[in-house]
Amino acid sequence: MMMGEYLAFAAVQSPEPETRDVATRWGSPTGFRTYSPQDVAQSDVLLRVQDLTKRFPVSLGFRKKAYVSAADGVSFEIKKGTTVGIVGESGCGKSTAARLVLGLIEPDSGTVAFEGVDVKTLSRGRRRELRRDMQMVFQDPYSALNPRMSVGESIAFPMRVHGTSRSEARERAALLLRQVGLHPNHASYYPHQMSGGQRQRVNIARALALQPRLVVADEAVSALDKSVQAQVLNLLTDLQEELGLTYMFISHDLNVVQYMSDRVVVMYLGQVVEECASEELYERPLHPYTRALLGSVGGLDPDQPPGPRLEGEIPSPIDPPSGCRFRTRCPEAMPVCAELRPALRQPREGHYVACHLFEEGPVSPSDSSATPATALAV
Ligand code: SF4
Repeated sequence: MMMGEYLAFAAVQSPEPETRDVATRWGSPTGFRTYSPQDVAQSDVLLRVQDLTKRFPVSLGFRKKAYVSAADGVSFEIKKGTTVGIVGESGCGKSTAARLVLGLIEPDSGTVAFEGVDVKTLSRGRRRELRRDMQMVFQDPYSALNPRMSVGESIAFPMRVHGTSRSEARERAALLLRQVGLHPNHASYYPHQMSGGQRQRVNIARALALQPRLVVADEAVSALDKSVQAQVLNLLTDLQEELGLTYMFISHDLNVVQYMSDRVVVMYLGQVVEECASEELYERPLHPYTRALLGSVGGLDPDQPPGPRLEGEIPSPIDPPSGCRFRTRCPEAMPVCAELRPALRQPREGHYVACHLFEEGPVSPSDSSATPATALAV
C-alpha cells in the first residue's frame, strides 16, 4: 500500500484526529503533568528510560528466597523515527527492559517517559490509551498467533478491542496485509497454513493495527532462516520509512542489530555497559564485553581479523559479581574491578562506556548508582 493510501485510511479510521496528540490525550483535567503541543513538538525524544531497576523473587527451597537482578539502573532514550538496538547474551536483561517499557511489568524503581510524560503518573485508563502507541513484535511468530483464529481475525482483534467496527477492522486488516507484503486473501488462512516468514509478517501487521508510534521487536527475526530474516528486516526498515515508526530492536545477534540500528545499547547482566551510534560501536568498540561479543560473532567484513572471543558462562543473576559484573570473564580485569562498579562515562562524544579502563570523560547523567574509581583514593 502506498503511503498516501495509508494516510487516507488512517484519517478515516480516526474520527478524532486530536486523540493522536499526546498533549491533548494526556493533558490533564485531573492534575496530571501536562505538556503543550509546542513542548511535544520541540522534543525529538519519543521514549526515555531512566534508571530502571527490576528484581524477581525466586524460591531456593524451604523458606529460602533470593532475587534475580534482571535490570539494574537501565537508562537509554530513543529519538523519534530512529531505531535503538538492545544487544547482549541471553539473560542480560534486554527482554525485561522491553517488558518494563511496555508496562507489562512494573519496575521496582526508575521511570519510563513517553514524549516527556512519565507513564507512572498516568491513570489506568490513560495508560491503556498509551498501549496503542507502543506495540510489540514477538520472537516466535507461531506461538504469538492464536491457531484457532484466521489471520484476518488476528489482525482485526486489537482494533475490535478498541472499538473499531467489524467491517472497518476487516477492511483495515486487508490493507495491513498488503502493507506487509502479503495478499488480502491471506486473511482467510490459519497460522499453520503459512511459512515462518509469512507468520512474522502477520505479527507485524497486527502490531501496526493500532497505528503505534513505537514498535518493540524482541528477537523478531531470531526464529527465521537467514534469507527470510533479511526479507523481514527489509520490511521493517521500509515500514519505518513509510510510517515514521520508532523501533526498540532487541537481539542477541550483533550483525542484525548493526543492520537495523541508529544507536546500540549493550547490556550485560542487567546493566548497560556501552552505548553509542551503531557505526561507532562496530568501528571502535570500547568495552571488553562488546569487543568479545563482536569477536564471537565475526563481522560483516570478511577482511577484518576476528577479535577476542567471549569465554566462560554468564554468572548467576541471583548473585552477580561485585564491582564490574563482567570481571569474571574479562581478560583485562584489575583489582579495582572487583571493588567498584564502573561509572557510565563518555570518553568520546556520544559514546558511553562503563569500564575502569576508561576513567576519562564526564559521567553520564543517567548513571546514578555507579561509583567512579577515583573514589578509591578518598
Ligand atoms: Fe574488565 Fe574491569 Fe572494565 Fe569490567 S571494569 S570490563 S572487569 S576492565
